[in-house]
Amino acid sequence: MAGPRVVIIGAGVVGAALADEISARGWTEVTVVDQGPLPATGGSTSHAPGLVFQTNSSKTMAELARYTVEKFCSLEVDGKPCFLQVGGLEVATTPERLTELRRRHGWVTAWGIEAQLLTPEECVERHALLDVEKVLGGLLVPTDGLAKAVLAVEAQIRRATERGVTFLAR
Ligand SMILES: Cc1cc2nc3c(=O)[nH]c(=O)nc-3n(C[C@H](O)[C@H](O)[C@H](O)COP(=O)(O)OP(=O)(O)OC[C@H]3O[C@@H](n4cnc5c(N)ncnc54)[C@H](O)[C@@H]3O)c2cc1C
Repeated sequence: MAGPRVVIIGAGVVGAALADEISARGWTEVTVVDQGPLPATGGSTSHAPGLVFQTNSSKTMAELARYTVEKFCSLEVDGKPCFLQVGGLEVATTPERLTELRRRHGWVTAWGIEAQLLTPEECVERHALLDVEKVLGGLLVPTDGLAKAVLAVEAQIRRATERGVTFLAR
């Protein structure tokens, strides 16, 4: 009997995504092994708060992040969402940092992701704990948010399993 064509070591958010992506492209003789239990293996994915910021100087990295946001928005586990699209707000408290936020605004909009530069007052409107006297401005990316990473792993494990991928815990 033929063995798997692909063995993925690690079922964190990367291994689970890889299994999902290659099985979606027709690769089904795939086995994913993890030393821990599934879906919360105890690796980095189990500990991350899951902040997803799409702004990046690299167009490729920004596109990967945008793809992740779009994909995670479409995933759920038993009615629970895998992504909370609360938006991402970076603030500047120095003139140098404000210049950097303007530069980041240029990148992210050039890569086709909606973003807005905010005044200090607009930053405080969005996050009341900020001190309007200290903040010089902000960069808001409305489609950023929080990934529920273990749920996203579970959703992708379920989908890949339905396509024939084998997952072996412990
Ligand atoms: C405290 C913390 C906060 C973070 N916050 C964020 C954040 O806000 N936003 C963000 O984007 N990123 C964040 N990160 C980073 C993010 O969590 C990681 O980049 C991501 O989870 C890595 O995924 P992974 O699948 O590569 O690794 P892991 O989730 O660590 O998965 C690797 C898997 O491989 C398994 N494994 C390892 N060796 C073997 C072996 N020999 N045999 C079998 N299995 C093996 C492990 O058990 C593990 O399950 C954070 C990380 C930490 C720790």
